[in-house]
Amino acid sequence: MSDYTRRKFIKQNSLLGMGAAMSISASPAIFTNITKDTDTPAILGGKPVRTESWPKWPRWNPETDEQGVIEVLRSGIWSRNKVVTEFENKWAEAVGAKRALAVVNGTNALIASLVQLNIGGGDEVIIPPYTFIATAVAVLATGAMPVFVDTDPETFQIDPEKIEEKITSRTRAILPVHILGLPANIERIMQIAKKHDLIVVEDACQAWLAEVNHKKMGTFGNAGCFSFQNSKNLPIGEGGAIVSDDDDFMDRCYSYHNYGNPYGSVVGDVGAGTVIAGTKLRLAEYQAAIGLAELKRLDGETAIRNENAEYLKSQVKDIPGIIPYKLYDNVTRAAFHLFPFRYKKEEFHGLSRANFLKALAAEGIPCSGGYAPLNKMPYLNNAFQSKNFQKMYPKEMLDFNIYLEKNQCPLNDQLCNEEAVWLSQTLLLTEKSDMNQIAHAIEKVRKNADSIKNQI
Ligand SMILES: *Cc1c(COP(=O)(O)O)cnc(C)c1O
Repeated sequence: MSDYTRRKFIKQNSLLGMGAAMSISASPAIFTNITKDTDTPAILGGKPVRTESWPKWPRWNPETDEQGVIEVLRSGIWSRNKVVTEFENKWAEAVGAKRALAVVNGTNALIASLVQLNIGGGDEVIIPPYTFIATAVAVLATGAMPVFVDTDPETFQIDPEKIEEKITSRTRAILPVHILGLPANIERIMQIAKKHDLIVVEDACQAWLAEVNHKKMGTFGNAGCFSFQNSKNLPIGEGGAIVSDDDDFMDRCYSYHNYGNPYGSVVGDVGAGTVIAGTKLRLAEYQAAIGLAELKRLDGETAIRNENAEYLKSQVKDIPGIIPYKLYDNVTRAAFHLFPFRYKKEEFHGLSRANFLKALAAEGIPCSGGYAPLNKMPYLNNAFQSKNFQKMYPKEMLDFNIYLEKNQCPLNDQLCNEEAVWLSQTLLLTEKSDMNQIAHAIEKVRKNADSIKNQI
């Protein structure tokens, strides 16, 4: 950064120096740069398209949000009680599930679901490589082996048509992720799961209130898992939930999240020792109070994100080299945790994605290149080298070179390493005019791609 600032400083100053020495007619480009500041890319010293800030996250309104939290704090009842139950009931209602269980985070929602569906050592679980690391580490934490299926670059989701070729005698579950808040092709995935008698745990940790055919994500599989971490569209700081219509499963999850104490169909006597091998994953009352306050704005904000995403998509889709996300035909609503598009540098004079991102950020549009490929990182080999894994799997399955070969996802590599660009959900919580600025900034970078490429 400091290096970049220094180079920019030198460039700007040498530009002025040259302008004084040369005649205007001999150097029209330089003349234009100096006088028409808004046409010069901000990364080369011009005026940024946008200088105003974007909405901060999380949102918090003391007047409407704080009372419930303060009541909990003053009550002295901070451990799981009425407010957590109220949050669970409201979350179950919001997604249209019979039951919800609040837990400490999304990662542990996934682990608890897998464990209570009897997935563990010796099993294979099919997952996408285009996801947050928590999806993969949740599988490893149960002792199961993640098997990666390549991404459909148009939708950024797991490609359902490549799932069946990865099913083996060890495969027990599919763990689809509705990544970026865009629904995976869950109806197709459920068909495949049914055909092969596989469990489905949905990672809906970015897909709050997203829908396929008016049914909410997280309610298609045996279990749906959510995250309420600080950056998420329903932020509590930390928090998560499991939803399902299966009472026995939900009773076991409840018991598991509370040391294995009896609950519902998990019967027994705490005095005689707990009933199942549990752990402790309970959400606190004040966390639930924050969740209840944030939940009030989630539906309205989701509607705004959908409207603005659709509008922004219409504004950028015809810019050569910009290919926005595609939604499957059955999607009736997305969550838009992110607004993704693919960047084709061929249409930008070969300007690398890294420099495109820098140039766009300089115009006042924060952006990122997104995930790195999850199917080839050292955490996998580390797990394979552990004593636990060596007890559970034959040697060939833990050979990292063989594993890498079997789990190649070339389309995902291209997406991660060259093409994906993300805009944060907070950018979508604004007005149409702000969407126009984003589109304008992209067009401006494209118009100047050649000079940016040559000067930075
Ligand atoms: C955030 C996230 C998780 C994990 O949730 P935490 O609450 O951070 O543990 C899992 N999967 C995906 C896709 C996520 O985005």
